[in-house]
Amino acid sequence: MTRTFSEFKDTLWYTTAPQAPETRALRGEVRADVCIVGAGYSGLTTALELARQGVKVVVLERDEIGFGGSGRNAGHCTPTFTHYSLPELRGVLGAPWAERLIQRQTRANDKVSQMIGRYGIDCEWEQNGYVQGALFPSHLKTLERTMASYNAVGARTRMLDRNEVHAVTGSSRFYGGWLHEEAGGLNALAYARGLGRAVLSEGGQVFTHSAVTGSEHRDGAWHVRTQQGTVRAEKVIYTTGAYTVAGWPNLDQTFRIMRVFVAATQPLSAASQAVVLPKRTTIQDGRGDIYVYKYNRENRIVASMFPMGPRGRDPAYTRKVLSDRLKWLHPDLREEPRWEFFWYGELDMQRKTIPRLYSLAPGVVAMTGLSGRGVPTGSMIGGILADWAMGVPEDALDLRLEPLSRQPLYMSFAPQAALRGYRLRDKIRATLQGAPLPPHA
Ligand SMILES: Cc1cc2nc3c(=O)[nH]c(=O)nc-3n(C[C@H](O)[C@H](O)[C@H](O)COP(=O)(O)OP(=O)(O)OC[C@H]3O[C@@H](n4cnc5c(N)ncnc54)[C@H](O)[C@@H]3O)c2cc1C
Repeated sequence: MTRTFSEFKDTLWYTTAPQAPETRALRGEVRADVCIVGAGYSGLTTALELARQGVKVVVLERDEIGFGGSGRNAGHCTPTFTHYSLPELRGVLGAPWAERLIQRQTRANDKVSQMIGRYGIDCEWEQNGYVQGALFPSHLKTLERTMASYNAVGARTRMLDRNEVHAVTGSSRFYGGWLHEEAGGLNALAYARGLGRAVLSEGGQVFTHSAVTGSEHRDGAWHVRTQQGTVRAEKVIYTTGAYTVAGWPNLDQTFRIMRVFVAATQPLSAASQAVVLPKRTTIQDGRGDIYVYKYNRENRIVASMFPMGPRGRDPAYTRKVLSDRLKWLHPDLREEPRWEFFWYGELDMQRKTIPRLYSLAPGVVAMTGLSGRGVPTGSMIGGILADWAMGVPEDALDLRLEPLSRQPLYMSFAPQAALRGYRLRDKIRATLQGAPLPPHA
């Protein structure tokens, strides 16, 4: 089956990221200790961790560095979990796996900051915090529970009252909010390219336009094949995420695709910046059918939503929804948003969407399921995958190795159905609590 993806070159990041480091396609045979398939955050941070420990590492990428989610995401780097609360995650993963993953994920932004600092990655990194707003009163209780659970594991977060949330976000719509002070935002592709450059600087090799067509074990080593070459390696790690194309049988069955879109306005005037996210935090508007936004370096608002009905399909209607929502949240915004960039991307959804580490064969693992938190998760996951490659025993890894499993067919429509359910639930809650509803809610 041929898989096609959204257009990569439409993204804001493609226009604004520094150039990619020079790379070429693999030709002939190359030897390595570890071969990594996929040059997104997961593959590159794994390569980086290994190269720094003196391991000979080769990364093979089907297209270019950051072609997948890593080069086209919205750039929010919030070190939390998106699909589960911490108590739910403990229920799903059990001990000791939940606590290990929680520690890694909640400290992920330390890792991001360190890598950006160490390698001088020019990627618009701003660590001004993340706000989740409350658009109806009862949401405050949920946010308080979220705050308590994250603070209990060492995160720096706090509640904002109505005045504070107004001061931080510029929006008078929220009844309060939750501020995660360690969160940040970046230029997604600039970060991916910077990680690629870092891998090269540590002696790793990255081959682009080198799609892996298969791997086989013979003569005591894995032979990872591309059209024009082979990597002979002791261990192989697949980090091909939602953008998996062939490479290993059924790896693309471990998730179902859910599309998401991102759009960016013109650079906003100083007057507009004073009333829209004046503290330059990132934000989620607190609805189940989310509207998330942040600034880029040029002061464009970069916003994302999930497609639903004509939203996402009809360009004029989609731009209207994006504008109406922004103007409703920030009634003092005086200029008309023009959505100058618009692009789509793909998420790897699972029945239990958490990072999943699959044991494919002796010496071969794969990682999928990063979904909507891949910026922090992909940044910290390299540490776990490198541990595996360095021979850390299975039960001491920070993720449980599991056999490859296919997602049920209903996962092709369940995330969309859930989104519609959240939308209805928010509508009912807002109505019962006398809270105003945003347009197109
Ligand atoms: C539109 C969008 C918005 C998002 N917004 C956010 C956000 O704001 N914050 C956040 O935390 N997360 C966000 N995400 C999620 C995040 O981007 C991903 O979870 C993350 O980038 C996944 O990284 P990865 O390295 O695991 O995979 P990817 O970045 O997808 O990399 C996989 C790579 O493998 C390559 N590949 C596939 N098959 C082969 C093969 N056979 N041979 C060689 N190479 C191959 C692909 O070409 C690709 O480059 C968003 C995702 C999208 C799509």
